[in-house]
Amino acid sequence: MNDLKDVPVLDNHSHFFKTRPYDAPLWSSLTLSLNDMPEQQVKNTLLYHDMIANLSSLFDMPAQEEIVLAERRRRMDSDYPGYIRELFTDVNLRWMLIDIGLAKSSVDFTEFESICPASVSYVYRSETLIDDLWKRQIPIDAAIDLLHKTIADVYSSLHFVAIKSIIGYRTGLRIEPHKKVTGEKSYRDILFKETAGICRELNVPFHVHAAFGESNLDLRENNPLHLKDFLDSSDAEGLKLVLIHGGYPYTFEAGYLAAMYPGIYVDISEFIPFASMGMRRGVEDILSMCPTNKILYGSDGFDVPETHWLGGRSAKETLSVIIMSLVERGKITSKYGQLMYHDILYRNSLTLHNIR
Ligand SMILES: [Zn+2]
Repeated sequence: MNDLKDVPVLDNHSHFFKTRPYDAPLWSSLTLSLNDMPEQQVKNTLLYHDMIANLSSLFDMPAQEEIVLAERRRRMDSDYPGYIRELFTDVNLRWMLIDIGLAKSSVDFTEFESICPASVSYVYRSETLIDDLWKRQIPIDAAIDLLHKTIADVYSSLHFVAIKSIIGYRTGLRIEPHKKVTGEKSYRDILFKETAGICRELNVPFHVHAAFGESNLDLRENNPLHLKDFLDSSDAEGLKLVLIHGGYPYTFEAGYLAAMYPGIYVDISEFIPFASMGMRRGVEDILSMCPTNKILYGSDGFDVPETHWLGGRSAKETLSVIIMSLVERGKITSKYGQLMYHDILYRNSLTLHNIR
């Protein structure tokens, strides 16, 4: 498995990174909290240490924080596009699917494409519109019309490859049948089902956040098993639905759903690399039952290109360890191990999103 370092990578779920060198310290981009986390808490996470250790190996210098950070600063300031290319080449990151809905990471698309060494496809986030419709208290029938019209307009200009929902962040994943609107949850549930219908019409996958996330999320409402009633309803017939972030920490549950429903796929972003010690357990949980041709690698990288890069490095390391152990124990052939590795890192997402 020694030649696996060069295997191409497609990042199934990510966000823009900044297109110019920036002054914010690296640690401030390594927390998912929206609260004001103290520097000395973030710097004492395994994620931070993992980042410094990987940068030191990339720069081929001792893993001393000050030296590594100074070298990073030097490379960014002297040739930022060159530094990004170095990161992307190191993990052979070839293609990125970018969720354009994350406000804090928004950039000029043309500028981003000119600086990004990988090919880029976009994912439209439905809450960009739905949050606004709810805030303005647009009646549900008009909201449904606006949803169809807006998504059709965006599709004709942007040619996105998937639509994403973060309803898990808003009112949770227990999507219920509603005859009429009785409050925010029913309003959003109805529009979630409409969005699923639009995905089927356009023949694009529906990416659904189903996992941990930033500090404003209620993890109790984000277990992907809550989707059961929706998945058994006619609204989900023929739909391809990707559980974004692998359901983490409900990773067995995510893999189980993918084993039960032909249209369910599992993305492993965010807990790779943000869950650090949890990366291996998460992937093993998913692999317990999930068909290996339905697992999609992603980073959930945002803000700084090092997050996308660390995701690629972490995924390659985690998958290598797991696959090698399966081969050594005679559970799979080394040929199948190679196939899994290529599929999860690149081909599964390419095929699912019909990317050429
Ligand atoms: Zn994300």
